[in-house]
Amino acid sequence: MDPTELTRSEQVRCDSCCRNTPGYDIVNYGSIERGYRQLCSRCFNAEVAKLAGLEQFENVNLDPVIVADCAGEPHEFHFRTRLFGTGVALDAFELRGGSPAGYQFQIAGAPGEDLLQLLGQLIKKIRRALSVKNLIDGEHGLRIADRQIVQGRIAWDDDQDGRLPLFIIDGREISWDEFGRMLMSFEGSQFRLTLGDRSEEL
Ligand SMILES: [Zn+2]
Repeated sequence: MDPTELTRSEQVRCDSCCRNTPGYDIVNYGSIERGYRQLCSRCFNAEVAKLAGLEQFENVNLDPVIVADCAGEPHEFHFRTRLFGTGVALDAFELRGGSPAGYQFQIAGAPGEDLLQLLGQLIKKIRRALSVKNLIDGEHGLRIADRQIVQGRIAWDDDQDGRLPLFIIDGREISWDEFGRMLMSFEGSQFRLTLGDRSEEL
């Protein structure tokens, strides 16, 4: 299980506090032998904090924040905190139709770290990312911006059944085909591909 994975939108009842919770805020917690429980992030974090002896861990409910991109377009970010033994991950994501979609960011810290301080760092990271456009609308459709660096995220493409990636670039979904077409205007050029964890700064 990847405890930091952001999943779908359907409402799930938390087995601990019984609150109906969006699917992306639910963790399957347990083991094959003992069975699994579906816990909301708050209850999951409380369990992990107890097991790891982190009684001082405080769940903070973080309100959504709006950040404008360099074109002045507003983006509303929602937050999720997930504690695991060795750290805490703070996710920021946009929602479309109740599901995480578009821009997503993550920052990781030590379990005892001040969440509001982490939030501050995460918002800085969001601002940095939103201050540039990797792709621009050209005469012949989307094209790679002049700085010739593209940063984004690799996502699951339902249409491709997972065989080919869907790219999330500038918070928009770009198919493998569409990205390939954009690259073909650089035929003969070199390229460099760097991969990194969601919380890393590339
Ligand atoms: Zn709960």
